[in-house]
Amino acid sequence: MALGGYADRVAHVDLTKGQIDYQAIPEEWKQKYIGGRGVGVKYVFDNGPTVDPLSPDNILCFMNGPLTGTEVNMSGRLAVVTKSPLTGTVTDSHHGGWSAARLRWAGFDGLVFKGKAKKPSYALVQDGKVEIHDASDLWGKGVHDTVKYFKEKYGEKDLSVIAIGPGGEKLSPFACWINENDRASGRGGTGCVGGSKNLKAIVIKAVKKMPKAVNKEVWKETHADALKQIKDVRVITSPRKGALSVHGTNVLMNMVNVIGAMPTKNSQGTFFEPHEMISGEYVKENILVEDPTCHACPVACKKEVEITEGPHKGLRMESFEYEPAWALGANCGNADAATIAKIIDQCNDYSLDAIEMGNVLSMYMEASEKGYTNGDGGLEWGDGLAMVETARKIAFREGIGDVLALGTERAAKHFGHPEIAMTVKGLSIPAYDPRGIKGMGIAYATSNRGACHLRAYTPAAEVIGNVLGPSTLTDPLEWKGKGELTVIFQNVHTMTDCLDVCKFATFAESLDTFAAQYTAVTGAPADAAYLLKVGERVYNLERYYNNQAGFREGSDYLPERFLKEPSDGPGSKGHVCELPEMLEEYYKVRGWVNGVVPEEKLIELGII
Ligand code: SF4
Repeated sequence: MALGGYADRVAHVDLTKGQIDYQAIPEEWKQKYIGGRGVGVKYVFDNGPTVDPLSPDNILCFMNGPLTGTEVNMSGRLAVVTKSPLTGTVTDSHHGGWSAARLRWAGFDGLVFKGKAKKPSYALVQDGKVEIHDASDLWGKGVHDTVKYFKEKYGEKDLSVIAIGPGGEKLSPFACWINENDRASGRGGTGCVGGSKNLKAIVIKAVKKMPKAVNKEVWKETHADALKQIKDVRVITSPRKGALSVHGTNVLMNMVNVIGAMPTKNSQGTFFEPHEMISGEYVKENILVEDPTCHACPVACKKEVEITEGPHKGLRMESFEYEPAWALGANCGNADAATIAKIIDQCNDYSLDAIEMGNVLSMYMEASEKGYTNGDGGLEWGDGLAMVETARKIAFREGIGDVLALGTERAAKHFGHPEIAMTVKGLSIPAYDPRGIKGMGIAYATSNRGACHLRAYTPAAEVIGNVLGPSTLTDPLEWKGKGELTVIFQNVHTMTDCLDVCKFATFAESLDTFAAQYTAVTGAPADAAYLLKVGERVYNLERYYNNQAGFREGSDYLPERFLKEPSDGPGSKGHVCELPEMLEEYYKVRGWVNGVVPEEKLIELGII
């Protein structure tokens, strides 16, 4: 019997031939990989690990999961999965809002694009059908004008638009996809793959039609229970005014800084003195205007701000979040919240990853300070107006922008100083210094898509505490046990990415609750162990793909700075990151040999 929750329809769009085939996700794949990231990775795996990311042969998948668009809390995530032009690994990047739910309501589990359209095109998705239309008039426009155009053409109601701007069109390897709510599938260059296919936008028109639970008894018990768990956790939600609801993710700015884990000035330091000026608390007091949310989410962690003075006066934007606020703030020696808001807004309009943008700017600042730029002009720490102009040059690939648009690692190599790129597998680090939060060191090093906090969010146990899995707070400066902790978090987060439920749900809901909701919606029996096995299987499938793409022994590393230059922040003074010791522990728990998945593991997990 086919499982509930699925639309049983994926559109396979060949942009070269203009052909569209509709197929269901194979039943075996549903069991093994569930949906979202898992099924997307399986499509990319089957397409082959040696494909050139920018060739028409690469595929670009937009996938939701069986819970997407239902009443399950926080079930509005969309996975974009492909082979990354930035890292050469398989990559997945998820965004919230309503585009995932609308894709489901339009009758789809996913869209898979291959080939290359002859001219700029967009996909119109509605009523179980996909049509490809000419987007030549839109080529060159930013995401904001593109969204405006489609709202005028198709009406604002029941409409989602996922688009690229000049970053994607001009093939920056860190270009991303942005939707009508400014939610980004930010990391890994998925928007660059869209640009290489001449795919400007995906337009979804769908009336709200929530799929009903198959197992109504289980649903009745579990839905109320899940909501209670979310509302009971102090870090999360409204009624109780939890920190995530009140301040958004940027509540972390002060918390991370105080423990000496704030990468500052391209990770030359771990403490940013004027941190309060860019914190969630500052934003709430001074520039916050609204708390938007995503489909079926009671948390509303999104923060919309308005700038009321200075050169960016009048700017109103969403997405003032911790990661970009750090990347463009402390990381660049910049304490001006208005500048941060401006550049995040630019990144959204240009379709560029704001984390990579902050890193490439900070690397350029360090290169300028040290005289590495060969007369390329240079950029000073914290020079907000110059940062805004440099971000524009990157988007349009003008002057030095043409080099910086390559991403941090390749641009640092261009300057002859790869050691100042804070990257792993070509992806720039996010907002946690592994000298102050040791688990982040092993999580960055072993992340299949490059330096990433979302593959294994160990700060949940090392900084915040009171969360799923290892529920007690662990010492962020202790390295022992962090290999195992990282494996647990990787498996849990991979599983939620397969269901495609927001990771913040794991701050509150137990694995049994996730399993009960899965059972309620699909009708299939499941428990916590089953879901964790899916997470482990998908993580190993990604690793197996990367191994075949050339990532073998020595590919799990950190920039030397974190291993050799001790932290200067008061909370972690004198610490470096003990990566070799953690790697040994990690590989043992994973059953891998120096980063390579052995055949017996692949057999055990049913991958081969
Ligand atoms: S917690 Fe935030 S990101 Fe997650 S679903 Fe809710 S509003 Fe969206």
